[in-house]
Amino acid sequence: MSRVFNFSAGPAMLPEAVLQRAQQEFLDWNGSGMNTMEMSHRGKEFLSIANQAEADLREVMAIPDNYQVLFLQGGASTQFAAIPMNLLRGKKSADYFNTGQWSKKAIAEAKRYCDVNIVASSEEDGFNSVPDKASWNLNPDAAYVHYTANETIGGVEFDSIPDTGDVPLVVDLSSTILSRPIDVSKFALIYAGAQKNIGPAGLTIVIVRDDFIGDTLPGTPTMFDYKVQADNDSMYNTPPTYALYLAGLVFQWLKDLGGLTAMALINQRKAEKLYAAIDNSGFYQNPVDPQYRSWMNVTFTLNDSSLDADFLAGAKQAGLITLKGHRSVGGMRASIYNAMPEEGVDQLISYMQDFVAKNN
Ligand SMILES: *Cc1c(COP(=O)(O)O)cnc(C)c1O
Repeated sequence: MSRVFNFSAGPAMLPEAVLQRAQQEFLDWNGSGMNTMEMSHRGKEFLSIANQAEADLREVMAIPDNYQVLFLQGGASTQFAAIPMNLLRGKKSADYFNTGQWSKKAIAEAKRYCDVNIVASSEEDGFNSVPDKASWNLNPDAAYVHYTANETIGGVEFDSIPDTGDVPLVVDLSSTILSRPIDVSKFALIYAGAQKNIGPAGLTIVIVRDDFIGDTLPGTPTMFDYKVQADNDSMYNTPPTYALYLAGLVFQWLKDLGGLTAMALINQRKAEKLYAAIDNSGFYQNPVDPQYRSWMNVTFTLNDSSLDADFLAGAKQAGLITLKGHRSVGGMRASIYNAMPEEGVDQLISYMQDFVAKNN
């Protein structure tokens, strides 16, 4: 058996140790004689798995006690609607940063429920940076401020948490959650789809401060009401049990590795060496303002795009797959989430250097 290094933006690689553990436990979880996906979500075995997953996530992210951790479904895209439904609380307007394709989708959905004030936009410059703080137009009366910490398609990442004063801050952390420590107490709400940096698709995590639950827009579906989900320990209906089990294994893997501080050092090293290889090549280019380059999604183009197909075919031969950029931007994208071993990045860099030698 040979595993590839998969640079997919999501669903993405999972840690091999996690997959191996899931394989060992596949037919018989902990003496239960069942796979976890065969268990009742209300039985004591599965409840112990769910409780452990929540406790481990709380530990790994240092989530304060006055926050609820919700394990939901519907992806980050469902939260684009659930957030205004739960957080408008009588207000008519919300603030959104527009830094890329995911921001745009969040904005389009929010507009169905409220006025959206664009705090700042980098669309004019092709979404290659985060607008300078001096240009931000924050509305002190906004219900909340929303931003996309890491734009998965453009490979652009905020370098710090925006200061929004007293206005509650909401973040789409889908593609950068767990990549490094983050101060949860700065946020009213954090959300993330699992399939980038947490586990399999089908699970969505919402971390919400207690005082932001329980006052929804009229007509909010029961399933979208954070209070209903919190009161039912995310089991108002059947949760995505297998995805939650695997996410729990990922949280344990992170703990074993030394937590998010240790993870951050590895991620920073991986990203820095890949960007350095691009910048020093004279053959590849990354268009993103260096201050805002993503640690997780490294985009690059070949100066001669007629070589793209050769580049991708050779990479595949070398066991380096899914490097094609998003259809909306072209070029290449290497997603190097937590589960991408440093060895995978090293092999990509040497493949890129060999490719230059052959084609220069
Ligand atoms: C992938 C992604 C989404 C959409 O996630 P789904 O779970 O597919 O709905 C939203 N925001 C960001 C930043 C993403 O990377």
